[in-house]
Amino acid sequence: MKVMVTGGAGYIGSVVTEELLRGGDEVVVYDSLYKGHREAVVEGAAFVKGDLLDTALLRETLAHHKVEAVVHMAADSLVGESVKVPAKYYRNNVLGGLSLLDAMLGAEVKYLVFSSTAAVYGEPAKQPIEETDPTQPTNPYGETKLAFERALRWYDSAHGLRFVSLRYFNAAGATERSGERHDPETHLIPIILQAAAGQRPEVTVFGDDYPTPDGTCVRDYIHVVDLAQAHILALHALAKGHPSSIYNLGCGGEGYSVKQVIDCARRVTGRDIPVSKGPRRAGDPAVLIASSARIVRELGWRPTQQKLDTIVESAWRWMQHKR
Ligand code: UDP
Repeated sequence: MKVMVTGGAGYIGSVVTEELLRGGDEVVVYDSLYKGHREAVVEGAAFVKGDLLDTALLRETLAHHKVEAVVHMAADSLVGESVKVPAKYYRNNVLGGLSLLDAMLGAEVKYLVFSSTAAVYGEPAKQPIEETDPTQPTNPYGETKLAFERALRWYDSAHGLRFVSLRYFNAAGATERSGERHDPETHLIPIILQAAAGQRPEVTVFGDDYPTPDGTCVRDYIHVVDLAQAHILALHALAKGHPSSIYNLGCGGEGYSVKQVIDCARRVTGRDIPVSKGPRRAGDPAVLIASSARIVRELGWRPTQQKLDTIVESAWRWMQHKR
């Protein structure tokens, strides 16, 4: 297939691009480079620098490259920032998304795989979380992702634009060439590894009085390659007539607490990792664990790198060899 990946110069977008190219699909990356990195765009992919709000350029890109399907990953994704600056999230995640849909309708591109998030659930009703559970986001990030997901349903019924929305839990890990690099970094695993590498003095644990076994938040970490594979399954299923669907993406199981992730990183790196205690971070639910049963059942998705050690090892290897 010919696939356009918005946000393909970002962390997850570059891994999705790698996996698409490896499987024989053709890719054009569309990215503003506002947060992505030009050097993260995988060799072998075409590249267009552009903004999501530029509907004309999107449409021209889709037509010029004869794109058949879009993976839409370009978005703002920081919970804390979204609470402070909701307008940015509504503009990029909702208006930007609608601009993409206009361009797709104009160019007659009918398939979309969307990067959604566990943040659509807000404070979860139960664990593990299923797709049918209530969606009550507690921040503009989750709210804007949910707004776009809902728009997709109506674009499908009105225009036959079919979609798969993937609600990511905690993406982590790296391939040989692509890993996580945000500025500023806010995600737990890269922060811990930066502390292990001596690039920051310590890791602050945001709250140790949660109702969890060791008092720290529990999350469902999924290897970025397993996550990327789900996009490829989704794209190919859509092309074969699969109906519009929403899927959670996590490894399930018991999840891992912040303390367990730190212990794992100590084991993997063999380094001392200084830790301090801090207050809870606003908007953090105590536990977020996915039921991924639906995507396993319907698309045959099989995560292959579920062990936290494997995930952390891959991120550590990438950090030490990155260009
Ligand atoms: N966390 C932490 N210290 C940090 C960064 C994150 O204790 O410096 C915790 C955070 O409160 C959450 C978990 O680690 O419980 C995972 O956070 P991350 O930002 O990686 O992902 P999120 O779950 O917010 O998507």
